[in-house]
Amino acid sequence: MILVLLGAPGAGKGTQAEALAAATGAAHVATGDLFRAEIAAGSALGTTAKEFIDAGRLVPDEVTIAMIAARLARPDAAERVILDGFPRTAAQVEALDRAYAASGRRIEALLLDVDRDVLVARLTGRRVCPSCGRSYHLTNRPPRVDGCCDACGATLITRSDDAAETVAARLEHQLGALQAVVALYRDSGRLGVVSGTGGIDEIRERLARAAAAVGLTPR
Ligand code: AMP
Repeated sequence: MILVLLGAPGAGKGTQAEALAAATGAAHVATGDLFRAEIAAGSALGTTAKEFIDAGRLVPDEVTIAMIAARLARPDAAERVILDGFPRTAAQVEALDRAYAASGRRIEALLLDVDRDVLVARLTGRRVCPSCGRSYHLTNRPPRVDGCCDACGATLITRSDDAAETVAARLEHQLGALQAVVALYRDSGRLGVVSGTGGIDEIRERLARAAAAVGLTPR
């Protein structure tokens, strides 16, 4: 099955998708991470994506859909997948449905629901590891040693699109797009809503229950 984890920037999708993938044996596929890897590799796709990402805008559908199709064709995505950050537009929802229509694989969506003021606080306090990609927060999830990644020891950075001036633009552009995607899954009877407010462990348990209810059970 394919579980689409929906949420605004800062809703906690990445943190929670990683935990849910570890608990269920699903592949965690995050379009933001795929783009950042392309940017780090200096590829043509990365160069195109960077312009949009740094402006707080969505990368064009054709670029995003081609990249995710290549990732989902890999063997680890053959059975259970958690999608984090995709689909983000109506065209992406349709492309995903079309890609799996013949296979009969089930696609279910869960929305991590968080108020806007909480999103802003989470985004501006986020720090990430440029080496292994792990995500931290100055107050909600601080690293053991200030400024250093717990997993690999690299110096943590602020993502360029988490800068205070980009956060407002990102939320404005992306909340509207998210509403459209949420409506499509709701209208087709494939949407569950989970509160994304509270402690990380509490949200993880809530999400695990909702995922199990739609068939993504622990392994
Ligand atoms: P994220 O790490 O999910 O917040 O993604 C970082 C940035 O990558 C977003 O702000 C977008 O600019 C871009 N991005 C990620 N996923 C998508 C997508 N499905 N469609 C278009 N742009 C995306």
